[in-house]
Amino acid sequence: MADDAVTRYALITGATRGIGNAIAKRLEKSGFFVIGTATSEEGASRISDSLTSGVGVTLRVDDDDSVTALMDRLKAEYELPVVLVNNAGVTRDNLLMRMKAEEWNSVIETNVTSLYRLCKPLMRPMLKARWGRIVNISSVVGRMGNPGQTNYVASKAAIEGFTRSLALEVGNRGVTVNAVAPGFIETDMTDELNDDQREQMLSRVAAGRMGTAEDIAATVDFLVSEGASYITGATIPVNGGLYMS
Ligand code: NAP
Repeated sequence: MADDAVTRYALITGATRGIGNAIAKRLEKSGFFVIGTATSEEGASRISDSLTSGVGVTLRVDDDDSVTALMDRLKAEYELPVVLVNNAGVTRDNLLMRMKAEEWNSVIETNVTSLYRLCKPLMRPMLKARWGRIVNISSVVGRMGNPGQTNYVASKAAIEGFTRSLALEVGNRGVTVNAVAPGFIETDMTDELNDDQREQMLSRVAAGRMGTAEDIAATVDFLVSEGASYITGATIPVNGGLYMS
């Protein structure tokens, strides 16, 4: 951070585990006051325990009332954040022919509509500060496509379009909006893959290994830094060479 006297608040959704937790820890090390979100009180306590000064709070990104309640709480207890990392995401895989409306809707609500819910109330504090950073976590499959994931891939492609449009809206006010598109990262999400799927995917990764949550956190850390102030509307691939677009 440029000015040590200013405490900047950073909100990271889905910070209980995996990529979100790594981002929370990393941004805390960089000097931000981190507020990480969990869907349960137990998860929120785990986040608080994993951080030094930062805190865990509850939030369901697919629920309007939950987002409103969190914004009210942040205003009352802390400050509205000028860094937002939209990391929370889910998969509900199925072939389109078998996909239930609920499987489609839950992925779109959690992965995409959440960006509308969270970015909108935080625009004012960022524009007022004439400084802000939004980082949306996409996925390599947003560009590559993936059978069995029409809902998830549509959500990640939407995130990238959202990122470019919002970047154009706020770029001249010191607010950058970028996306990070992870490849094949070791987390609970990829634990669901069987050995065959894992081997097949790994054979296509130039780096010859799965990525770590810290690989993604390092990129997010850069995007929220002063050094990245001239990068906006970008989607940064962090995929070990799995897909080069
Ligand atoms: P993960 O281990 O499955 O963790 C998901 C996080 O999202 C958890 O903190 C979870 O909170 C939270 N979450 C789920 N539903 C939520 C909801 N309705 N409201 C609020 N929070 C919710 O996931 P991950 O692998 O770290 O992935 C993080 C992001 O990276 C996702 O957007 C994912 O699509 C993207 N990504 C991951 C990979 C990969 O290989 N892992 C690759 C590309 C992109 P609880 O613990 O409280 O449920």
